[in-house]
Amino acid sequence: MDASHDVLVVGAGCAGMRAAIAAHDAGADVAMISKLHPTRSHSGAAEGGINAALGNAAEDSPESHAYDTVKGSDYIGDQDAIEIFTREAPGDIYELERWGAVFSRREDGRLAQRPFGAAGSPRTVYAADITGHVLIQVLYEQVVKRDIPVYEEYFAWKLVESDGRCQGVICWDLLNGGLKTLGGKTVVLATGGAGRQYRATTNAYACTGDGMAMALHLGLPLKDMEFMQFHPTTMFPSGILITEGCRGEGGYLINSDGERFMKRYAPNAMELASRDVVSRSEQTEIDEGRGIKGSVWLDLRHLGAEKILERLPGSRELAMTYAGVDPIFDPIPVRPGAHYHMGGVETGNDGETELTGLYAAGECACVSVHGANRLGGNSLMETITFGRRSGTAAAEWALSHTTIDVPETAERDAERELKALLDRSDGERPWKIRDELGQSMLENFGVFRREEKMVRQEEIIVELRERYRSVVVEDKGEVFNSDLTQALELGNMLDTAWTMVQAGIARKESRGAHSRPYDFPTRDDEQFMKHSISRWADGRPELSYKEVRVTKWEPQERKY
Ligand SMILES: Cc1cc2nc3c(=O)[nH]c(=O)nc-3n(C[C@H](O)[C@H](O)[C@H](O)COP(=O)(O)OP(=O)(O)OC[C@H]3O[C@@H](n4cnc5c(N)ncnc54)[C@H](O)[C@@H]3O)c2cc1C
Repeated sequence: MDASHDVLVVGAGCAGMRAAIAAHDAGADVAMISKLHPTRSHSGAAEGGINAALGNAAEDSPESHAYDTVKGSDYIGDQDAIEIFTREAPGDIYELERWGAVFSRREDGRLAQRPFGAAGSPRTVYAADITGHVLIQVLYEQVVKRDIPVYEEYFAWKLVESDGRCQGVICWDLLNGGLKTLGGKTVVLATGGAGRQYRATTNAYACTGDGMAMALHLGLPLKDMEFMQFHPTTMFPSGILITEGCRGEGGYLINSDGERFMKRYAPNAMELASRDVVSRSEQTEIDEGRGIKGSVWLDLRHLGAEKILERLPGSRELAMTYAGVDPIFDPIPVRPGAHYHMGGVETGNDGETELTGLYAAGECACVSVHGANRLGGNSLMETITFGRRSGTAAAEWALSHTTIDVPETAERDAERELKALLDRSDGERPWKIRDELGQSMLENFGVFRREEKMVRQEEIIVELRERYRSVVVEDKGEVFNSDLTQALELGNMLDTAWTMVQAGIARKESRGAHSRPYDFPTRDDEQFMKHSISRWADGRPELSYKEVRVTKWEPQERKY
């Protein structure tokens, strides 16, 4: 074992940093592990804002926030978790503000709040359209202030289970090369999403589902993996996100006839219907020939230059740089792209998993606040609220236990596996398999899902996994061997993609982000108001189901 701590947090985005701060403040010796420098974590890309019922822009309450979230989840969010979430969110926002988060303000000095999709009140707190950037800087300042060590540019590869507990992490040291074993009385996974399984995605290169895969490979349950959210406004052709804040500020979606087509799909909510609804509407317009080169237009021109420059400067810059259009004068070409994974490592309300000593928070976890469809602005909030709760719980457990045991066999097995991969000189390059996975996931497991395409996708994944067994890493070096880490990430993406497709085939209904308009167009609460649970057994995922926790909201039809 190279080092040990009370609490190890794997991941240094918003969830990981918030967890580490909480663990430190609870008195634990905590360290973070991250394959990137913390401020380069993907949370920094979040634009539009973070939801809490402060009631600054209109009447609001945690209860209304909870109701919107339950409804948005298409009734498979766990309602006890959602109630905790919406009740604790306002306090967490004020804490961030006290730490120095420069949120945008109203004229009366209170924090500004903008409308976001499917929210009954304008409750999205924001810092112009760089909210994630602001949060990640503020959290990093708090990490530095507390002197929390970061094993930076360490790639976490395997969790160590010993004596029925999670007791450490085996990592590849990206800078110096070599495996490093870190022991922890508790481990918090906060490794973010897995959007890179798709060719068209808003997610950064680092979003490869590593934490989900590490838990899966230990036999732990992943929950609701079939639910990948497609964001309706990703720029064509790059896939870079244009925030929902643009529609919150009054932006229109128009088709090639110049029609605001959302009036046919969601006459009340229009462009601010929930993301699954807007994505499906756009895809239908494109599929039925009313698109413009595979996209539709997001029109901000009527907002005027002043509002665009004040509220949406980052989006304007992105549009100018990556789509070559200035939204003050031209509409932006957008289409749905893979954006957010509602599924993840199954946890309880304090981030605890089935394995003693292992916790998870943020996008890699499924507690489940988002159910079948996440509301915009709820994810950043989840990273903070459940990051904090997980860090505190992990610290409390660690402080009441003394030993850390990492068996030498775990390190030796990992070394042997790595050597076999690096010694191989003949075989296929990982990028080819990764590209085929990304393209086929988009084609066969996208906004709309057909049984035969999903079945084909499962076959493709099985074939790709077979080819992956003889993948070759050409770079045999120690320093910054991204060839090696990309090969390891590919294995994680293939296995988690398999759980998604398997759970998608079995869910014979349409709910939230899982839409089967051709064979099961409606929600079937009788049979499927339940969570899917995926476990790894005998080299393949195995599916079961679990009840949704309902406190007070019985399922209703969603109307827009
Ligand atoms: C473009 C974009 C805009 C968004 N805008 C919003 C918004 O406005 N509001 C909102 O609520 N949500 C938004 N979201 C969603 C939200 O930003 C994310 O869900 C959230 O930030 C995820 O945070 P996280 O801490 O869980 O993961 P991340 O921020 O992705 O951090 C993951 C961390 O894990 C580390 N890591 C991963 N794998 C390994 C490994 N194997 N070894 C070591 N370290 C590892 C990474 O280095 C990183 O530090 C947006 C998402 C995108 C893509």
